Amino acid sequence: MIKILANDGIHPDGRLLLEEANYVVDENKIPQEHLIDKIGEYDVLIVRSATKVTKEIIEAGTKLKVIARGGVGMDNIDLDFARSKGIQVYNTPMASSRAVAELTIGHIFALARKIHLSNREMPAGDFRKLKKSYETGTQLRGKTLGIVGFGRIGQEVARLGFGVGMNVLAHDPFVTDASIGIRLNMFEDLSLEVKVRTESIERILRDADIITFHLPGGNSPLIGKSEIAAMKNGVVLINTARGGVIDEELLIEGLNSGKIGGAGLDVFENEPTPKEALLNHPNVSVTPHIGASTVEAQSYIGMELADKIIAFFGDDK
Ligand code: NAD
Repeated sequence: MIKILANDGIHPDGRLLLEEANYVVDENKIPQEHLIDKIGEYDVLIVRSATKVTKEIIEAGTKLKVIARGGVGMDNIDLDFARSKGIQVYNTPMASSRAVAELTIGHIFALARKIHLSNREMPAGDFRKLKKSYETGTQLRGKTLGIVGFGRIGQEVARLGFGVGMNVLAHDPFVTDASIGIRLNMFEDLSLEVKVRTESIERILRDADIITFHLPGGNSPLIGKSEIAAMKNGVVLINTARGGVIDEELLIEGLNSGKIGGAGLDVFENEPTPKEALLNHPNVSVTPHIGASTVEAQSYIGMELADKIIAFFGDDK
């Protein structure tokens, strides 16, 4: 019998799939310092970001065949050591793409109509004055959306951008084109297929009204002085990828000068204490790194983990 320790929990939908397949799922959290004494009982360890799967834990897990991370980043797992021991390591990159894409579009809508600002100012503000000051909102149909990083989330954002009627441009050095399928739920048999060819970064910087980033974080900012200079005046930038993709000091400078018309940020250089100048800026819409965190995404993560574990063991249980 396969014993699974879901030390940071698992969504009931994922747990149900595993139990229906006759796996034993233990969700009683074992504190980090005692994990080393207990891990030897389990064939599978499921974690999110809280549990640290160190070399010592892996060594003590003499029965471990699978380590599964609910979510994307695997910084909390000693990947090389796990693999050197022949342990299969999974994460769930598919499960949260839609959630991040919807938050991205949420920030774009908020900035276009100043919804973020209205929420901040209306409780203590004068209704008539505020009505006047928010009159200059813009509409999204016909605007050009530049997507930098055209992987899972970037393509999901494209799907939503087409739905809104935006001109979608994408840039990705490793993807030349992608087919974006759009299913119209009201008409089950009706779906559209839009082929997007990627463009140079220069074209995106020059032509996009809104630029959104969906690439892995690197050590140095992708967007610095010369890139900002090459953008349209009043461009809106969205970052739901990793803090530091856009140089934050330059971002603040650009927002203050008006070169950058607005920014939607879910990620920051110094989480959990982002710069006050960003949090308080009237043209910045912020969320506390919740891109992947929706009720549905938690369920998809649980089910994606369960599917991978069940496929790994097959009939061999
Ligand atoms: P993905 O691997 O599917 O796509 C990333 C794409 O970026 C790839 O197609 C890759 O070719 C491209 N890329 C690499 N270097 C590039 C560059 N210099 N310029 C342009 N494109 C480049 O990844 P994904 O699942 O779409 O995730 C994208 C980002 O979103 C990651 O940074 C991830 O950490 C982040 N993310 C954030 C949240 C959140 O909570 N806000 C949740 C999940 C993922």
